[in-house]
Amino acid sequence: AADEGFDVEEVEGAIEEAGHGPLPVLAVVGRPNVGKSTLVNRIIGRREAVVEDKPGVTRDRVTYEAEWAGRRFKVVDTGGWEQDVLGIDASVAAQAEYAIEAADAVVFVVDAKVGATDTDEAVVRLLRKAGKPVVLCANKVDGPSGEADAAYLWSLGLGEPHPVSALHGRGTGDMLDRVLEALPEAPAQTFGTAVGGPRRIALIGRPNVGKSSLLNKVAGEERVVVNELAGTTRDPVDELIELGGVTWKFVDTAGIRKRVHLQQGADYYASLRTAAAVEKAEVAVVLIDASESISVQDQRIVTMAVEAGRAIVVAYNKWDTLDEERRYYLEREIETELGQVAWAPRVNVSATTGRHMEKLVPAIETALAGWETRVPTGRLNAFLGELVAAHPHPVRGGKQPRILFGTQAGTKPPRFVLFASGFIEAGYRRFIERRLREEFGFEGTPIHISVRVRE
Ligand code: GDP
Ligand code: GDP
Repeated sequence: AADEGFDVEEVEGAIEEAGHGPLPVLAVVGRPNVGKSTLVNRIIGRREAVVEDKPGVTRDRVTYEAEWAGRRFKVVDTGGWEQDVLGIDASVAAQAEYAIEAADAVVFVVDAKVGATDTDEAVVRLLRKAGKPVVLCANKVDGPSGEADAAYLWSLGLGEPHPVSALHGRGTGDMLDRVLEALPEAPAQTFGTAVGGPRRIALIGRPNVGKSSLLNKVAGEERVVVNELAGTTRDPVDELIELGGVTWKFVDTAGIRKRVHLQQGADYYASLRTAAAVEKAEVAVVLIDASESISVQDQRIVTMAVEAGRAIVVAYNKWDTLDEERRYYLEREIETELGQVAWAPRVNVSATTGRHMEKLVPAIETALAGWETRVPTGRLNAFLGELVAAHPHPVRGGKQPRILFGTQAGTKPPRFVLFASGFIEAGYRRFIERRLREEFGFEGTPIHISVRVRE
């Protein structure tokens, strides 16, 4: 394919870059005010405010993409919670637990100026139980004089404390080198050891849409708490449920049933939980309460699953309560509010009556099939050739940029690299995506398209 002005190395590099699998996940946990958000800002290399000055401000974004020494990974920030709602130990434990579950490695941040507190010790116990690799960050070591404070943290029994100043950047590079050593290349728990095992489903949606009702309905008597099956997994919050003759793993179901009702901070916990579940899953079933207007929160949850690159099914629940008028408006709302997942299989269900429960599994299977679709290069280029001939890119400044060739660099979700002779406009990219979907299906999956322009 190294024709038309691209050299082999350039093409291979682009394919490798676009073809990366799902990214490993790093969780940053610790007590409030130890500097977690400051550190996350530094890791993701953005100065823009992850740190909120206003107490009580809840964030809905908890995962960020980062890159260090040429390796990409995701960071889960747990800085956005409210310390007064549960009591400090319970709060720290709750947020750390979700984050650790979803993580492939953990940075545990301790304030070296304060030293180890009882709450820190509680987190250490959680970390031990989880058994994930941990890098201990002794933060707020702004100068050499603080190094002695850091050394005291050997007492936590987590190995070497890394003296860091998240605020000024001191020591963060060395610490990130250690983080990369600890992080697997790919998220092991989701895509490594799980390969060949039961497929992983995250059931997500805002509070009260009916997640726990649906889980109970589909599980019926078949429910097996994974925890009780020795050796299946060390994760006590996933459940194996047999549906349609196949065993599925519903991840983070404890998050669904353990109904911690919080006032302040509830949105944040819900976001963290959703992010954690999505990270662990291959397919997200997004539950929407069809009896109510589709909300911004519904859209955010959908966006999380799309951005994480998961297969997606949208289930409209409480269908038993809908009258004709509501059904009419719902269809309009779906068009205007959920256009970003117009490609996702849809089921209209009722967790109460059991309506259309049997349609859930086929929808999930469809989405997973789309997610794993690989288009052979020959077929893709035949398609691109016809498309470009029939619908050329508009002429700009006397030139006509052309798609020269393309290849699918990866799956889960499908990722394409297109090589072009000039800048390809957003509208034309969207057109290509639409045509790719018409041609090859990709039902239930986001697709990524990156374009390389010949220099
Ligand atoms: P979080 O609650 O753990 O996310 O903590 P934040 O990142 O919000 O930081 C809490 C406070 O500690 C803020 O005022 C930060 O500016 C400060 N801080 C964070 N890192 C450092 C550091 O390395 N040195 C110093 N001196 N202050 C820091
Ligand atoms: P969760 O917060 O998403 O887990 O939601 P729940 O499963 O606790 O459900 C919230 C409320 O909606 C409960 O009162 C359920 O009985 C009710 N509910 C859930 N599914 C349905 C449904 O399909 N139809 C009706 N009418 N009510 C439902």
